[in-house]
Amino acid sequence: MNVLEPGLYIVATPIGNLGDLSPRAADILSRADLLAVEDSRVTAGLLRHIGTKTPMTPYHDHNADAVRPGLVARLATEAIALVSDAGTPLISDPGFKLVRDARAAGHSVMTIPGPCAAVAALTLAGLPTDRFLFLGFLPAKAGARAAAIAEVAGIRATLVMYESGPRLAACLATLAEGLGDREAAVTREITKRFEEAVTGTLSTLASCYADVPPKGEIVIVVAPPGEAAPASADDADAALAEALTRLPVGRAASEVAKRLGVDRRELYARAMRLRKAAEE
Ligand code: SAM
Repeated sequence: MNVLEPGLYIVATPIGNLGDLSPRAADILSRADLLAVEDSRVTAGLLRHIGTKTPMTPYHDHNADAVRPGLVARLATEAIALVSDAGTPLISDPGFKLVRDARAAGHSVMTIPGPCAAVAALTLAGLPTDRFLFLGFLPAKAGARAAAIAEVAGIRATLVMYESGPRLAACLATLAEGLGDREAAVTREITKRFEEAVTGTLSTLASCYADVPPKGEIVIVVAPPGEAAPASADDADAALAEALTRLPVGRAASEVAKRLGVDRRELYARAMRLRKAAEE
């Protein structure tokens, strides 16, 4: 068996179906000198599946700061693979500081990409994927959660977030309040036996899960905000009347056209009528 080049290997692992472990990921896990793992009991199951016994050391939120310098020092001569319990390390999981420090110390960093619940959920949701914003886990406390939602309400992108079953209904209701009743998908147990994607508006989904919190692992995907309703003639007149108190007709028409997305020539004609009416 060839020896791996020293350095840090970021290895994605299955989020449910062990068949999703890539041959390259299995190869790196077998040949690495050491695996930095979130929970050795979880990774031991994966190692049994591929028939290897690579040594493991814990790397998780509670010990990362203390053990990181030692791991970075070892990267000079050893191949260390970072593995989380499931999916892609660093995505709502520990690892970004290890990557940063490893690179700063001049060591190689390589990624072995693979399953990620957020991306898998996007492929199931049937919502636009050209622009999306990953929010990780929203804060657990109601006030902080509503504030986090308000912060992203105006963003023209599909939103993706991780959530737990017991909090799902409350989270969907807060999303409906803060974002408006957008289309959404609740994806659950992706790649596992009971995989599902339930779609609907946020408020229907909230009531659907209110009585019986679902079991298993969940990703919520929310559609981007709809197109803003076109400005009405009354909106345009009100904006023009205000602009005419500060600006000559041409500049008032240009400013309002830009702000409301309305044709400038049409606004210019309206502005002329308004000015004439005011003078009579
Ligand atoms: N790093 C992981 C990844 O790449 O997806 C995510 C880790 S995060 C600590 C765990 C959360 O991911 C779960 O609480 C759940 O929201 C989501 N998740 C993980 N596996 C999932 C699955 N099979 N189906 C749905 N959601 C899943």
